Amino acid sequence: MTDFLDACRAIVGAANVLTGTDMAGYLTDWRRRFTGSARAVVRPGSTEEVASLVRLCQEHRVPVVPQGGNTGLVLGSVPDESGAAIVLSLARMNRIRAVDTINNTMTVEAGCVLEAVQNAAADAGRLFPLSLAAEGSCTIGGNLATNAGGTAVLRYGNTRDLCLGLEVVTAQGEVWDGLRGLRKDNTGYDLRNLFIGAEGTLGIITACVLKIFPQPQAQLTAFAAMRSPDDALALLSLTQERCGAALTGFELMSDFCLQLVAKHFPQMRLPFPQSYPQYVLLELSDSESEEHANQLLEAVISEALERELIQDAVVASSIAQSKALWNLREHIPLAQAEEGKNIKHDVSVPISRIGDFIRDTDVLVEQAFPGARMVTFGHLGDGNLHYNVSPPENGSPDAFIAHQEEINRVVHDSVNRFGGSISAEHGLGALKRDEIRRYKSEVELSLMRTLKQALDPHNLMNPGKVI
Ligand SMILES: Cc1cc2nc3c(=O)[nH]c(=O)nc-3n(C[C@H](O)[C@H](O)[C@H](O)COP(=O)(O)OP(=O)(O)OC[C@H]3O[C@@H](n4cnc5c(N)ncnc54)[C@H](O)[C@@H]3O)c2cc1C
Repeated sequence: MTDFLDACRAIVGAANVLTGTDMAGYLTDWRRRFTGSARAVVRPGSTEEVASLVRLCQEHRVPVVPQGGNTGLVLGSVPDESGAAIVLSLARMNRIRAVDTINNTMTVEAGCVLEAVQNAAADAGRLFPLSLAAEGSCTIGGNLATNAGGTAVLRYGNTRDLCLGLEVVTAQGEVWDGLRGLRKDNTGYDLRNLFIGAEGTLGIITACVLKIFPQPQAQLTAFAAMRSPDDALALLSLTQERCGAALTGFELMSDFCLQLVAKHFPQMRLPFPQSYPQYVLLELSDSESEEHANQLLEAVISEALERELIQDAVVASSIAQSKALWNLREHIPLAQAEEGKNIKHDVSVPISRIGDFIRDTDVLVEQAFPGARMVTFGHLGDGNLHYNVSPPENGSPDAFIAHQEEINRVVHDSVNRFGGSISAEHGLGALKRDEIRRYKSEVELSLMRTLKQALDPHNLMNPGKVI
């Protein structure tokens, strides 16, 4: 295998083939739950280098684990423990190739960090709306490979909806140039959408054409308190009716989530002097003016107060206040981590069924594990909840975590009964690969296996992930 590594060095240069302890940051997942092993981490700088590496891997039957920012949450971006694979890091492929403000597209390489993509769009007077808490380190290639969601799905869709074209290195080491900036193109099978969300199991995304949008003239953030998720749903409907596409974010969080934030980040101020059972953070992006946005928001809040859908509300009057409200939302996972070990679920159900889902599942979890504490928050406007479960207040975290599979079963079976998905936005990776088999039909699984076999017959593209 020294021959193999020498051949890698000949393709990308010796400095870009990392071995031994130099690989450390690439082998452990973001949540530090798993450390794999690899022959090497290889860092190509161009599409041609990626293609040459994949051909070399085919020749030597070496598995390839594509990696962007390694912020994925389902163990998709790290290799298994066998040490057979290489990690192929796209980090050096970070050029913005083109920005077209008439077609409203930009062409960027897969290793561009999401924040750099947002900044490049802003420099051209445009908006690239994908936004998530890992945006300072995740890459657009990883976002596409996982079809990431984030905070603006309600208005702009998932990463899939933001992509018009792809450049992909296939499992055979060929380059498919599908970098078309077309909004209409009905010419056969939709290959682009096959590679998006495939988590690197069908090929390697090396570049993409992304949609960009006019910058909004105003952005307003409000925080509302209410009695129940059902009231939050009624507020969602009302806001959509009154504000249409201006509604860009609608995040739900329970009081327990905010109490955890207050406990572990006491410097953060809660918006209300008293507690309410549930809260919604909502964001409007207006293409007219700040005044227009304010009028819309004030009208919605007055009507919601009048109809008693909400008990109280605050509207951020500055960017700093808006950031402070978003910070509360974004600190929930961090506060939960500070509180100790917990069990996470990234699920979706039809939006209209969220209230019933939370009610039923809370009862089922409580029956099975008395005292378990539900940390429920998420992108309500997308039907996507992070339904996380923390151990009972004075219980042993390790004893609780030992029941992870049983808790997953209770939650995922409930999701299934509500017609939902056990992975709304993080993907399957290695973490949910086996679990998904309980919830997809044999027909669906068999179609997925057929695709995998056809595109990657030697199972070298991120093996052991997804299927
Ligand atoms: C703090 C935090 C907040 C997050 N918030 C959200 C959120 O709101 N919404 C959401 O959807 N996700 C969220 N995530 C998870 C999300 O999946 C990732 O952050 C992001 O999309 C992954 O990008 P990455 O570059 O880090 O990919 P990686 O973690 O490196 O890889 C993820 C998967 O994609 C594959 N892959 C990576 N690059 C390529 C490529 N070029 N070609 C083919 N396959 C590739 C990998 O093999 C792996 O299977 C969050 C993660 C963190 C840590």
